[in-house]
Amino acid sequence: MKAKYLYILIAVLIGQVMMTSCNNPTEEAKAKYIFLFIGDGMGHTNVFITESYLSYKAGKFGGEQLTFTTFPYQGDVTNYTAESNITCSAAAGTAIATGYKTRSGFIGVDADTVAHPSIAEILKAEGYRIGIMTSVPMNDATPAVFYAHNSSRGNGYEIAQSIANSGFDFVAGNGFKKHKNKAGEYIGDYLAENGMKVCYSQEEFKATSKEDRVVMCEPYNKNVEPMTYFAGAPVPEGHMSISQFLENALDKFGEDPFFIMCEGGEIDWAAHAKKTMPTVMTILEFDNAVRKAYEFYLKHPDETLIVVTADHATGGSSVGSGDTHLYSVDWEPLVSAFEAAGCTNTLNQEDNRKLNDASRIGWTTSDHTGDNVPIYAIGKGAEKFCGRMDNTQIKGKILAE
Ligand SMILES: [Zn+2]
Repeated sequence: MKAKYLYILIAVLIGQVMMTSCNNPTEEAKAKYIFLFIGDGMGHTNVFITESYLSYKAGKFGGEQLTFTTFPYQGDVTNYTAESNITCSAAAGTAIATGYKTRSGFIGVDADTVAHPSIAEILKAEGYRIGIMTSVPMNDATPAVFYAHNSSRGNGYEIAQSIANSGFDFVAGNGFKKHKNKAGEYIGDYLAENGMKVCYSQEEFKATSKEDRVVMCEPYNKNVEPMTYFAGAPVPEGHMSISQFLENALDKFGEDPFFIMCEGGEIDWAAHAKKTMPTVMTILEFDNAVRKAYEFYLKHPDETLIVVTADHATGGSSVGSGDTHLYSVDWEPLVSAFEAAGCTNTLNQEDNRKLNDASRIGWTTSDHTGDNVPIYAIGKGAEKFCGRMDNTQIKGKILAE
């Protein structure tokens, strides 16, 4: 009899341990500090070529890693739209931010143009402080899906006006697309007249208060349409990186609960141009920003969630190209040409293709591809980002719904 009761007791205890690990209430609450990083166009293979480059630099054939690929929970995200198996940033961003599939070009609205709140808008209403930052114009599709609702990503001026209404605390990027309306009025002036402190330098940011709602704008774009393509072109003086923006937001938010969306937007631009080294460099810059968040996580491991993903893949890149059997990719031609040009690649398409061929890095398209994209997570609730998922599920996982 005693043995029988002992077995029952053990069984009950095991059951309770399993119940606790599956239903631990602390696992159900969302994190106090939430980082969502989106590498625009950062498909698996663009991550692979970046790690291949790092391994080359370390004198190895492989094994070097970016910060985010070391995160303990990893998955694979489907990203088709309501109308296509290949998405654009607007449709993919809307799916990530609102949980709804939509059509290409739609911002924060579903396929029937019905608006749905974004993760950032929901968390703002719950008292979180909100930071949205990107290396491309701050009213481009990926940042826009977090604060705007518009059936055309082309309505840049109207989309940027939504920044003032959003109530968000910090929005930063490389100026604005459609920076003037038909009357010639500059969007930065509109935002300044509607409750935002618009800063064009770190000095101007330092002069703002913790409670000011801030727009950070690359200084050289104050009155210029920011279509200059820095992914491979010389970086202008006064450039502020997404790492810098991230530090600014962290300084501003202090110990308050926050949601930060940080986009590596230029990754997509470099991959559209099939430019290998600029793709690698923009992913390394993105990883630098992730590392800042990781350092924050190390100080607040029980309260912080970091999620890193992509909206879609771009360029159809591969580590290896051509028809030779059993060879090794040779980074030397790409790296030496890039470094000799002062870490730029302003080559025309044909010369760029020859360079890729010499190194045997393959590019199959100048546009997006329909591959699943990677997702990486660490911290509170990170285990939910394991395995295969759809991009519409990311919102619910972050909000612990
Ligand atoms: Zn693109």
